[in-house]
Amino acid sequence: MDVVAGVDLGGTAINYTLLNGQEKFLIEGLCEYPALSKEGPQVCLQQIEDGLKMAVQSVGLTLSNVVVIGLDTPGPASSAGVLSARGSTNFAHPDWAGFDIREAVARRTGKPVTYLNDGNAGALWGHYALFGAANQATSISAVIGTGLGGGVIVNNGVVKGRKGFGGELGHVLIPYQSIRGIEGLTPQCNCGRIGDLESLCSLTAIGKSLLPYFLPKYPDHELGKTGDLDKAAKLVRGLAEQGDPMCREIFRVQAHALGLFFDEMVNTFDPEALIVGGGALETKEEFQCWFLDEIRAGMPPQREEQADIPIYVMPNGDTAGARGAAIEALKLARQSGLI
Ligand SMILES: [Zn+2]
Repeated sequence: MDVVAGVDLGGTAINYTLLNGQEKFLIEGLCEYPALSKEGPQVCLQQIEDGLKMAVQSVGLTLSNVVVIGLDTPGPASSAGVLSARGSTNFAHPDWAGFDIREAVARRTGKPVTYLNDGNAGALWGHYALFGAANQATSISAVIGTGLGGGVIVNNGVVKGRKGFGGELGHVLIPYQSIRGIEGLTPQCNCGRIGDLESLCSLTAIGKSLLPYFLPKYPDHELGKTGDLDKAAKLVRGLAEQGDPMCREIFRVQAHALGLFFDEMVNTFDPEALIVGGGALETKEEFQCWFLDEIRAGMPPQREEQADIPIYVMPNGDTAGARGAAIEALKLARQSGLI
């Protein structure tokens, strides 16, 4: 049986999936292998190959059954898969600077390789889960993780842009001053902008801006006693889910920020769907529903024709990158007559 592979290279783990020509995913859930990105390209490429062999063996196949590999990684990288010459958090080893990771995986495995950044791959999966592989619908996905990634799918393809920075949704400015309850807050993003989506709606934003803003208003809060804002930030989602008032307030602000952003997307694209995913939404359904309601509450009134544009939670969020990468690979396999 011929299949395509999705390979999602993260900071510490590589996640794999396999997809056949009938659009069936052969791996349910996470199939992980250690990434060792910090040790540079040679070690990491070996890891990618070893993990891929393990993944195909787990479903009774061999590498020869894989006709195209879809790779996705955190950016910044070009749309062709050349990592930024300036390096990045996830690829700190000096040998990664300007490294053509797509080409390197292709050379090593002898197979065609497609490339997407991880946000765009997640967006492609979110779109596919709603509309299938061959649909002309437009969707906008926001993936809330350490940062804010995502992507725009138009005409059955990812908007990559001129140099691969299309769909960098986290750095789009929003009119955050209109969000109630954060008067006087100046949310700064690591990119330098003040008040872009990531500066309010990401794990980084919780540690950097929202906890420092809200903790003085809740002087007895347990998170104020941790003494480590990054650690405390990781606890906010769980506490919000349990109904903790301050943590709910932090998530309400994030939802309203997303509402303002989605409003911009509604007026730019008039899309069929708005999708939200990422670690922030790996919660019980009750919390997800509350969060979606708050996104809606944060949007300015919509014109009648657009008030019913649905907002969805991305399914299988932790496998979104690998699944999106596999869908991109399937597209190439079909275009090339390989599957
Ligand atoms: Zn930014």
